[in-house]
Amino acid sequence: MHDAATPGVSAKPVLRWRWLRWNLHHLLLAYVVITATGVPAFSWPWWVLVVPGALLAGLVADGMLRPSSSLFYPTVSHGARNLACVALTFDDGPDPVITPQVLDALAAHGARASFFVIGKSLVAQPELARRMLAEGHAIGNHSWQHSRWQNFHQFRWQLRELERSEQALAALPGAPQPALYRPPVGLKRPELARAGWQCGLTLVAWSLHGRDTFARDPQSVARRVLAKVRAGDIVLLHDGHDLGGRRRELCVPALRLILEGLRARGLRCVTVPELLRLSGDSVSPSVWVGSRKPRA
Ligand SMILES: [Zn+2]
Repeated sequence: MHDAATPGVSAKPVLRWRWLRWNLHHLLLAYVVITATGVPAFSWPWWVLVVPGALLAGLVADGMLRPSSSLFYPTVSHGARNLACVALTFDDGPDPVITPQVLDALAAHGARASFFVIGKSLVAQPELARRMLAEGHAIGNHSWQHSRWQNFHQFRWQLRELERSEQALAALPGAPQPALYRPPVGLKRPELARAGWQCGLTLVAWSLHGRDTFARDPQSVARRVLAKVRAGDIVLLHDGHDLGGRRRELCVPALRLILEGLRARGLRCVTVPELLRLSGDSVSPSVWVGSRKPRA
């Protein structure tokens, strides 16, 4: 999937209505300015400003804030519901202490998972990434530095952030296919969507959040996941921390409980690319806006 001429950068997926999608926030601004001028100047009724403006603002907010929204970019959040499979995903790693234990726990259960890694953490410990791939897991891009200011930056910055991680991933033996990307905290503004499209990435959200970043004990994480899990779910967990020097200590004990519970329910743990492959066209996102699944 990676373009041979530009290592780490994939072909652009088909994405219709691109200009309209990525300029909705500009259209909103223009609409508000025009109608705010027209209401007092030409005695237009107030609803002309408020009602369509609120609808457009709600649409833009949904596209940016709801991780599974496909408004700005087709985003996969689950697989087919008739498969006895789930995809466990781990964000913010690799962590030198927690990630090896996660890999041990997955290996003990014959489970496969997907790791959305922070680029600069990946290049600091490439041996962990090589182990992930050697043991059949998938690796996705979770930005270069997981900046908390990511959504305040413009297109060029977003593109650099993605390409830097993509190039680090492409340097691994057997670059992950397809090229997966998960935006930090799941937010995507149109500039980020445009950069993702330029890199030809498959955007992956989740259908079940483990709430492991808020929980106080591993049992509550496992209880939540096992109470809510459905076939085809993409489950969000964290093996790393976006703040240097902190650890996700709950991850491994919670994972062991989750793996036992999933086995008891007859749900097999597969990677995101495998879940997409098994699901075929049944999870094609965003049909309503005329796009098709980017690459699977
Ligand atoms: Zn993250």
